Amino acid sequence: MKTLQDPKQLDSAIENLEELQSKFSKNKPLIFLDFDGTLAPIVENHEDAGMDDETRKIVKKLSQKYAIAVVSGRGLSDVRDKVGLTDIYYAGSHGFEIAGPNNFEKDNEEAEKMLPVFNEIEEILQQKLRVIDGVRFERKKFTLAIHYRQVAEDKISEFHEIIENEIQNYPKLHKGDGKKVVEIKPNIDWHKGKAVNFLRKELSEEENPFSIYLGDDTTDEDAFREMENGIGILVGEHADDSYADYRVENIEEVKQFLNSLL
Ligand SMILES: [Mg+2]
Repeated sequence: MKTLQDPKQLDSAIENLEELQSKFSKNKPLIFLDFDGTLAPIVENHEDAGMDDETRKIVKKLSQKYAIAVVSGRGLSDVRDKVGLTDIYYAGSHGFEIAGPNNFEKDNEEAEKMLPVFNEIEEILQQKLRVIDGVRFERKKFTLAIHYRQVAEDKISEFHEIIENEIQNYPKLHKGDGKKVVEIKPNIDWHKGKAVNFLRKELSEEENPFSIYLGDDTTDEDAFREMENGIGILVGEHADDSYADYRVENIEEVKQFLNSLL
């Protein structure tokens, strides 16, 4: 069982590279990488995030030696475009959508059944929210994002009310609130940890293949917990304690660590 620790108490992966390398030489790891905050800097504007050429080169080289998957909260096509490498695996939308080389594709089956429901609610909300100016819809495959950054302050409570009234009729949907955006998602228990376990089976013949997971956020904790036979590395820190085994300080150290695997 992995235990929770204060991130500051975690050993540095960089300071323990030799010890880690000897582990990896005995067990060739599967490598799982978060995107935002791990491969690419966190930026003000979500759309502007990108990884630099050096990181892309390192990941590409790694992929010639190891099985690699990028696991992100972003939609699949979004994260795939941003990384831009064809011979690795991707888990988008926290793992609802998984894809890989040779046209490998696997969507969450329960979520897939929800697609007609998404189409229905999108149409209804488009219509009902017409009374409010500045609402912008963004449809990802398994998430309907409704942005209200441009909505007048005195209209915001009405905006939420309209959505909440409608969503009540759909127990299989969940309304989440982000920064000036409402996200409607399938009400399904699925997270990065489950996505990683699915991929571990897919990427290895072994029952319980040795794995490494690097991530920076609370949603990565679900994956760290699954690293029973493996190593979780927290990038920087988030607001809570962590199930990771090691830490690196920042993206530069992520690069340094990944380079050491080559
Ligand atoms: Mg992240």
